[in-house]
Amino acid sequence: MKLLTINNLEFAQKQQEIANNFAPISLNRLAETLALQSENAHLATIHFTLTGDYKRFRQPSLHLHIKSQLPVICQRCLEEMLINLDLNFDYLLSDSTINEIEANEIEANEVEGSDEIDWLEINSEMNVHELIEDELLLAMPIAPVHEGPCSSLSMQSGEKPNPFAVLKGKFK
Ligand SMILES: [Zn+2]
Repeated sequence: MKLLTINNLEFAQKQQEIANNFAPISLNRLAETLALQSENAHLATIHFTLTGDYKRFRQPSLHLHIKSQLPVICQRCLEEMLINLDLNFDYLLSDSTINEIEANEIEANEVEGSDEIDWLEINSEMNVHELIEDELLLAMPIAPVHEGPCSSLSMQSGEKPNPFAVLKGKFK
């Protein structure tokens, strides 16, 4: 996969936008955590929209929306499953000279209506795929499990009645 890099300051100032799909297998670190050999692997997809802006927070910012479907192994029944991650991030761009106190002040005073703001350093060659990979790695559950009960088929092995339990009752 061709590396996707942007000049993030220019991207914000020109209010550019990229939207694209790609397969998670192209992100090496993320791929290691996925069940990409599974039968659901062909359903694995990452869709993202990256939008630049300089008005909303009164300074250059990026907004990243990631919508992904990733195959993993359920840690309860060890069956494959797909997890859906729908993530939104706002980043303010700053050069590295901004110190933490300044950063907190800007955050407290100027950033309203946003739950969480991250900072990104101004970078003329920011790697977009790497940013997406980092965010997905952070958002991935450490021990993914089925949301509801695991399928009855896969639970049977763990819940088979013990045949000796029946005998025990008879000879009491
Ligand atoms: Zn399960």
